[in-house]
Amino acid sequence: MTWLAFQLVVLIAITISTSMSNVSGEAFPALNIKKHRLSFEDFELYTPPLSQLAEALSEGLRENYAEVSVKVVDCPDLTASPFNLAAKGLSGYTAHVQVGSLNYLFPMSNYKRVYDLIDIGRNALPNARIFSVYGAGSGPFMVKTQFCEGVYNLKVNEDKSIVNQCRLGYIRLENGYDLKMEKFPANETRMAFLGNMFVSEGKSGKVVQIKAKKRIGGEASFITACRKAVYEAFDWKVVGLGGVFVVKNGTTMQHIGLNFPLKPVKDPNTWKRLFNMPAPLTSVGTFITDDMGLNMQVEHFHSFSNGKWGGHYEYDTNADTIEYEAYFNVAQRAILIDRPN
Ligand SMILES: [Zn+2]
Repeated sequence: MTWLAFQLVVLIAITISTSMSNVSGEAFPALNIKKHRLSFEDFELYTPPLSQLAEALSEGLRENYAEVSVKVVDCPDLTASPFNLAAKGLSGYTAHVQVGSLNYLFPMSNYKRVYDLIDIGRNALPNARIFSVYGAGSGPFMVKTQFCEGVYNLKVNEDKSIVNQCRLGYIRLENGYDLKMEKFPANETRMAFLGNMFVSEGKSGKVVQIKAKKRIGGEASFITACRKAVYEAFDWKVVGLGGVFVVKNGTTMQHIGLNFPLKPVKDPNTWKRLFNMPAPLTSVGTFITDDMGLNMQVEHFHSFSNGKWGGHYEYDTNADTIEYEAYFNVAQRAILIDRPN
């Protein structure tokens, strides 16, 4: 890039970030998937019986944790503590969804890439009258006039009313990287740039329950350990799973992205702040065994709590004390919305 081009990019970035602090949310309407003809790619995934998934997870996780129990169970009421989800279950029609792309965030943020969780859920499950959207990605930056992480936790009822348990997390720099987690405003359902979601009808039904305690292996990320276990069992068949896990004990590293940069970000890994967070934390999201050559995020979970903690789940920070409990269901389809060319 020439010096002149670089200066131009910086000038545009400053103009946008300055103007952002003066505008209301209406200045950033969500792109409507159908009306704006966003690209919509829909793939059937391999859906092994839950019993086979439980076997695969059990085998893989035993290499990484001292105590492992994996069973197919009736889903507990996930609206209850410690899950605090918007719907009771993870069953009915299901889909693993990616909307947007990391390319809309780096090297420079594209403020037009705003989407609506209700629109995403409705398009992902067109035959569902009721649906829930759980996942991880960017939050509605216009609410805080700065970058924020999004924890998607939403149910849409038949009468179109919503149960909105979504959270946003951000960093206030003036107080020395002070972390803030709060609920979305009641009627706010927008997110931006990139999101990964497990969309289901939220019905009660059978799910895979995983309990894992005390890490003995080298894989410090519970989700990566689960994904590898499923990948190894089903080989080239692409399998997606999503739902919720709770960090019941121990500590985990989680990140929150910094505010929008004023110059292009070369390495996204430098654009975040890590926090070592105590349990309990509830995490929602989805993972898939292969990105199918489509530049998908293969795993993405964001966490929240009743207190100040929450963020993008990365890995445990104390192998001896870590303890997880998860409830996952299998995704029937993988859907990519608004993938850049
Ligand atoms: Zn994230």
